Amino acid sequence: MAAPGHVLVVGGGAAGTATAILLARAGVTVDLVEAGTEIGRSGSGITLQGNALRVFRDLGVLDDVLAAGYAFDVLGLRTPDGTVIAEFPDAKTGGDDLPATVGMPRGEMARLLAERAAAVGAKVRTATRLESVTPDGHVTLSDGTTQAYDLVVGADGVNSGVRVQLGIDTRPEPLGMGIWRVFTSRPASITRTDLTYGGAAYIAGYCPTGDDSIYAYLVEDATDRTGLAPDEQLATMRELAGHYGGPWTEIRDRMTDASRVNYTWFTHHLVDGPWHRGRVVLAGDAAHSCPPTLAQGAAMALEDATVLVEELLAHDDLEAALAAYTTRRRERAGTVVANSVQLAHWLLAHEPPPQAGGTADVPGLMARTSALLAQRP
Ligand SMILES: Cc1cc2nc3c(=O)[nH]c(=O)nc-3n(C[C@H](O)[C@H](O)[C@H](O)COP(=O)(O)OP(=O)(O)OC[C@H]3O[C@@H](n4cnc5c(N)ncnc54)[C@H](O)[C@@H]3O)c2cc1C
Repeated sequence: MAAPGHVLVVGGGAAGTATAILLARAGVTVDLVEAGTEIGRSGSGITLQGNALRVFRDLGVLDDVLAAGYAFDVLGLRTPDGTVIAEFPDAKTGGDDLPATVGMPRGEMARLLAERAAAVGAKVRTATRLESVTPDGHVTLSDGTTQAYDLVVGADGVNSGVRVQLGIDTRPEPLGMGIWRVFTSRPASITRTDLTYGGAAYIAGYCPTGDDSIYAYLVEDATDRTGLAPDEQLATMRELAGHYGGPWTEIRDRMTDASRVNYTWFTHHLVDGPWHRGRVVLAGDAAHSCPPTLAQGAAMALEDATVLVEELLAHDDLEAALAAYTTRRRERAGTVVANSVQLAHWLLAHEPPPQAGGTADVPGLMARTSALLAQRP
């Protein structure tokens, strides 16, 4: 194997923790640094599809994920007044022996992955920021440490500083949409994701994340919400939620804690050339990001980790391993980014479906994407 003896992983999200688990399990000495004071502080929920669950199984955390989350196999479509207009089996992209989808609290996912990384021997340090890195693997950390690593994995998220320091000028671009999200208690009637396309928002949806919790979201035109105080944010999301019926009536009643509401814009990007320079390589959102219209960002980050470590273990030469990693990942991740963006563009343009003379073949796009994701990366 090319296998670097000593690796620094920058970032304790899905990409970083998964990479750390796989490398440490293969006998590599791994340091993981996370700038945040705690891994798993994030308060919202996340939708994880079969291809993400397949990686969790490989990482040895599937049982914990299933115990902490909420699994379901059917997706519903509703009109804004809450009427169910379609129910269909969600694609099982991880295989028939895995649920189609699991919702779980984001913080819980991050905590399980970080604990697993530590259990298999990675040295995980929080409140430690990468300050600088050079392509030959020399780093400076916020605790004053300077060190040379055989490999540095920049899994530092959508606004990656590693990406900038490598001189890669790709940046996330806003798509014109913003999303309100709330994390709250679960009404008994919510046992799966139901989506509503249209009404006062582009998308209204929710996902159960455990016996006692859900997250719900409303997608609107990107708006500058930075001036809103937390109570005003809560009131704004409640007002928008009031345009939807069915389970949304109960969700709205439970939206009382302003600290559980957040707002962010959709962005997207894909690093087009190689994802590495010398001894430094990007993974996850650092390399590509998509709007969550297909809920695939974390799954792509997890798949990156799998392929990166497979290639590192398969080659004697680091450059060849990293080049093979980009080659295997860029097309698949790029297709997911493109399809996620396409869905957002159709919504923004109010593009009609083919049967009404338009081009917005949403079921077709979803089916093609699922067929791709069902194949191992
Ligand atoms: C609104 C929204 C909803 C989404 N919903 C879903 C969904 O339902 N399903 C799904 O699969 N995906 C979803 N995604 C995408 C998903 O959140 C991301 O794709 C995924 O979290 C990427 O993981 P990552 O490990 O690459 O990055 P991150 O999770 O962002 O982790 C990066 C980590 O690096 C740390 N870091 C940054 N800089 C430094 C530094 N210099 N030194 C040390 N540490 C550093 C950060 O603190 C952070 O913890 C959504 C995204 C958005 C914006």
